[in-house]
Amino acid sequence: MPETTIMDKLISLCKRRGFIFPSGEMYGGLQGFWDFGPLGVELKNNIKRSWWKRFVQERGDIVGQDAAIITNPKVWEKSGHVAGFHDALVECKKCHKRFRKEDFDSISQFDHYKNDIKSRKSFLSQMKCPYCLAEVQIGKIFTEPKSFNLMFKTFVGPTEDTASETYLRPETAQNIFVNFDTVRQSMRLKVPFGIGQIGKAFRNEITPGNFIFRSREFEQMEIEYFVNPKDDEKWFKTWVDASYQWFTDLGLKKENLRFFEQPKKELAHYSKATTDIEYKFPFDKGWAELMGIANRTDYDLKAHGLTYRDEVSKDEFVPYVIEPSAGVDRAALAFLLDAYHEVEGGRSTTTESNKEQETVLRLHKDLSPVKVAVLPLSKKQQLSSVAQGLAEQLRKKFTTAYDEVSSIGRRYRRQDEIGTPYCVTVDFDSLEDKKVTVRDRDTMKQDRVATGELVEYLSEKLNI
Ligand code: ATP
Repeated sequence: MPETTIMDKLISLCKRRGFIFPSGEMYGGLQGFWDFGPLGVELKNNIKRSWWKRFVQERGDIVGQDAAIITNPKVWEKSGHVAGFHDALVECKKCHKRFRKEDFDSISQFDHYKNDIKSRKSFLSQMKCPYCLAEVQIGKIFTEPKSFNLMFKTFVGPTEDTASETYLRPETAQNIFVNFDTVRQSMRLKVPFGIGQIGKAFRNEITPGNFIFRSREFEQMEIEYFVNPKDDEKWFKTWVDASYQWFTDLGLKKENLRFFEQPKKELAHYSKATTDIEYKFPFDKGWAELMGIANRTDYDLKAHGLTYRDEVSKDEFVPYVIEPSAGVDRAALAFLLDAYHEVEGGRSTTTESNKEQETVLRLHKDLSPVKVAVLPLSKKQQLSSVAQGLAEQLRKKFTTAYDEVSSIGRRYRRQDEIGTPYCVTVDFDSLEDKKVTVRDRDTMKQDRVATGELVEYLSEKLNI
C-alpha cells in the first residue's frame, strides 16, 4: 500500500468510527486542535493507564502528580521558556505562512550554486512555498528568520493587563521541577527517585500537521528522574531501554522503531545527551520522533534554586535529571498506524463469507477501546434478550459493545475495524446448551464457552 494512503485511510477510519476528528468541525475546525471521540478517548485512556501502571504504580521509586495547567508565570521565566521557547521562522511574503528555518536549510545551499547557472535554475525550480507554491527568490518570497514565541499567552482575572499575564504550559516537566521539594518531603523520597505526570501541554506550533502528530494542544507523559550526578549515564541508558521496552510490549513492531542520538551540536542548551525513539511514520522521510529521553543535567533544579541533601552521607548536591518524555497523541498515532491492516478479499470463513476488503486494527489487547462485543446471531427477541443480559454482565468488567444490526459477517468486520479482540455470538444453540461462541480477532479461532464461565474466560484472555 503506498504509504501516503495509509494516513488518509486511517484519518478516514478515525473519523468514521469515532476515534478522532477535527475540533469545532461544524465551524470549519481550528488548525492543530483535535477531538477524541468515544473510541479515541478509550484508546487514549488505555495508553495513559498502561504508562502510569508501568512507570508509576509498579515502581517503588516513582510517585505521581497532577499539577495545574496554568501556574505562576515566574516558572516560565526561570525555566528559560519566556526567553527561549521560540523557533526562528521564515515567513512567505505572499501567503504569510511561517516555516521553521530548519525546514529551509536548503535555502542556504542556494549560495553553493552562485556560479553555476544551470544548477541554480534547477535548484530554484524545486523551491516553492509549500502552501502557496510561490517560488523562492531569496529575500523576496521569504523573510529573514525571526523569533516567534510558541507559548500561548493568557490572562488570569478580569483585566487583561501585564500583571495578570501568564501562559498555558508548553510541557508538564516544569510543574514537576518546582514541586521537587514539596513532593520529596511529603513522600520522604531519596535520590534516585522520579516524579511522573500525564497532562495537557500547549504549543502554538507554526506548522501543525500530519494529523495528530503535531498539534497545538496535546498530552504528554513525562517522568523527571532525579539522580546523583555521578550516576547520570547509567540512568540515562536505563530509561532509554525502559521506554523502548514499553512501546514494544504494547505491540509496536521493532522494525518500525529506531534510536536517534541527537548530535551534540543540535542538543538543547540544558541537555547533555538526548536520544529520540523514532517511529517509521509515513511522512517526514519515514522516520520521526515518537518520544525523547534527555539528560537535562542540573539545569532545571538550578534554575529554580533547588538543591538536595542526602540524609545519610550528608552530601549536598543538585541532582541531575533524566527525562523520558512521550506524547500521548503521537503514541496513539503510532499504535494506530502499526495496527492498521487491510486484508484483500476479506477473511472469509464458513460463517463470515464476504469478498470485500477487510480492515483489521490489530491493536494490543490492553489498548483496544472495546474489549468485547456481544452479537446475537439474529434480532429475534429470544436471542437478543439473552445477549443483552450477557452484555450487561460483561460491561461491569470490560468495555463492551452490543450490536444486532446487519449480518453477522458485517458485524464481525465492524468490530475488527476498531480492534475489538473478542466477539461473543449468541445463537439458537445457546438457548439450549447455555454456551456462546467466542471469536478471536487475530486467529479467528472460535471457542464454545459456557455463559457462566465467560467472565473468567475473557479475564484470562485479556489479562484483566
Ligand atoms: P518536535 O521536535 O517533534 O517538535 P520536541 O523535541 O519539541 O518535538 P519535546 O519537547 O521533547 O518535543 O516533547 C516530548 C514529546 O512530546 C515529543 O516526543 C512528542 O511525542 C510530544 N510532542 C511534542 N510536541 C508535540 C506536538 N506539537 N504535538 C503532539 N505531540 C507533541
